[in-house]
Amino acid sequence: GEGRAGRQRESTTHCPYCALQCSTVLSGERGGVAVRPSADFPVNRGGLCQKGWTAPSVLAAPDRLLTPLVRAADGTLAPAGWDEALDLVAGRLREIRARHGADAVAVFGGGGLTNEKAYTLGKFARVALGTSQIDYNGRFCMSSAAAATTAAFGLDRGLPFPVTDLDGADVILLAGANPAETMPPLMRHLEGADLVVIDPRRTRTAERAALHLRPAPGTDLALALGLLHLAVTEGLVDQEYVDTRTAGFDAAWEHCTAWWPERVEEVTGVPADELRTAVRMLGGARRAYVLTGRGAEQHSKGSDTVAAFVNLALALGLPGRDGSGFGTLTGQGNGQGGREMGQKADQLPGYRSLADPADRAHVAAVWGVDAKTLPGPGRSAYELLDALGTGAGPRALMVFGANPVVSAPRAAHVTERLRSLDLLVVADFVPSETAALADVVLPVAQWAEEEGTLTSLEGRVLRRRAHLTPPPGVRTDLEVLHALAVRLGQSAGGFPVRPREVFDELRRASAGARADYSGISYARLDAGEALHWPCPAGADGNGAGDGHPGTPRVFLDRFAHPDGRARFTPVDHRPPAREPDAAFPLYGTTGRVLAQYQSGAQTRRVPELVAAAPEVIVEMHPDTARRFGLAEGSMAEVGSVHGTTRARVRVTRAVRPDTVFVPFHFPGAGRANLFTGDALDPRSRMPEFKVSAVRVTPAGER
Ligand code: SF4
Repeated sequence: GEGRAGRQRESTTHCPYCALQCSTVLSGERGGVAVRPSADFPVNRGGLCQKGWTAPSVLAAPDRLLTPLVRAADGTLAPAGWDEALDLVAGRLREIRARHGADAVAVFGGGGLTNEKAYTLGKFARVALGTSQIDYNGRFCMSSAAAATTAAFGLDRGLPFPVTDLDGADVILLAGANPAETMPPLMRHLEGADLVVIDPRRTRTAERAALHLRPAPGTDLALALGLLHLAVTEGLVDQEYVDTRTAGFDAAWEHCTAWWPERVEEVTGVPADELRTAVRMLGGARRAYVLTGRGAEQHSKGSDTVAAFVNLALALGLPGRDGSGFGTLTGQGNGQGGREMGQKADQLPGYRSLADPADRAHVAAVWGVDAKTLPGPGRSAYELLDALGTGAGPRALMVFGANPVVSAPRAAHVTERLRSLDLLVVADFVPSETAALADVVLPVAQWAEEEGTLTSLEGRVLRRRAHLTPPPGVRTDLEVLHALAVRLGQSAGGFPVRPREVFDELRRASAGARADYSGISYARLDAGEALHWPCPAGADGNGAGDGHPGTPRVFLDRFAHPDGRARFTPVDHRPPAREPDAAFPLYGTTGRVLAQYQSGAQTRRVPELVAAAPEVIVEMHPDTARRFGLAEGSMAEVGSVHGTTRARVRVTRAVRPDTVFVPFHFPGAGRANLFTGDALDPRSRMPEFKVSAVRVTPAGER
């Protein structure tokens, strides 16, 4: 609220980082902003992790971008005025489009962008640029979960129930999720349950588990098939639920008849007894949940792996039941909203499909364009990056809210593709590794300087509020897109700069769609209503009145398929794209650490977080360190056929002797993604971040 004399001005908003979207209260002026958790928000209940507590540091980052930068003749990035920079970008975009066609211009977005920005970015690409070439970094995050749950339930909402429902659970199975490290306040909601954790690493979450299953990397699909097999043979299937609420059980069962426990043990390394214990715990619980995270999803078979865990949950009768369920733990701050708003290669706002004539017609009408002019689906994120600057690929790229030089797989190759472009434009608030390669850098506002909405992992739409005005010289992403759209010949009214106006438009674009926001308004959110989508407008059509109460639990009565039934998906196990061999004898896997976030562009600028996690490490088992002649604290090279990462050795029994782990937050030669490859999931187009075949060798200190 606005301060009065003698009272400090405070703003209630949300953390800039992960999808838990902890509520915070900001106070103080620029340079001295203080943060505290708000006590009454049910998700974090007065808790924040180290990243949330220190987030104001990023507002005062010493290398904050405060003026546009344009690549000068001598190759350096030189300060420029806004008009100069925007004229240059629009002129080059027009030129490249005239010479090579509309698809020669591409857009890369981010799962941290507000709903309003993600929506406008999709509209900008399809209307102002007329390109099909737009995708975003959420492809690297949630796409496998989205593909699998859309097929199973007819709808992709990460948690189809509120986070607080987990408080009442007796047993929770976490497959490839490490919330104790990635979103610590969530652990408060898991305290009452016995945890079954599936993870090759002994993570902080696994340390708190009643049972920890440690499969070899890339084998969790076999493990899930084995659990379903045991659910059947142990008589734990909820037959009435399967008969009345699902379809396709027989086909799914056929694929796992051969996955008896001893065979699963052989493939995964998990003892058959532990499998039995796990399925008995889960099947015997009154209230149970199955949750997946990136560990199960970031594979070339990620969507099938999630489907196998969905099958297990369906057989046990969990999804759509009060007090039980299946969910996926979304990662990025607006990972949920970001994947609904139309910055994905195949989607229009509200999860509408670019391939569906009725969906195209609806959105075209809202945008005031002819549906025939809307481009079709484009390339997925990695395929887009891989095609840059090649014969058939885009010649220009605009990046908003992403840092693919660090976060994309096969990073050396992607960096080379970015360098080969005729034009690279990056909008960011700090000079990220990707901005360093740009021809034009546009300085934009960040979290505490802007209004908007985000949709958290539980499908709840939240208000982000501006506590500060952006520093002089800095514009919002919406202002940047507006100015470029106008320069590209669009009407000023087509690209509003006020987030509230954009939100009102996206409500109409999503009306009647699966992710329906039409009944949500800033007024309702500001009045403190807890609104989870779908939230269709009331009979008055504007939804701002006595509107729909929102849908905290989406599948209680029926699933979102036309017949109301969930679908089993028949899936089978297959090995990762590349298994360890004589030359590359170990599994290399990547992930996160508590004190850093994603590509680290923000958290590597926070002194407390740098002190806690200053540099890239490679975790390896003592036997592995001995075998390859590496000592604690020495530098190692972790190499695959794709490239080599330099990291400091941390010897720990938390990893298996056949596996090394490298967090992906660090830049330069320490990028974990230098060794990850380009194998993609055929359905979700998710890269295989979690399994590479690597070797480790000693490296000299630089
Ligand atoms: Fe921010 Fe996530 Fe930490 Fe909460 S758990 S403070 S949202 S990073």
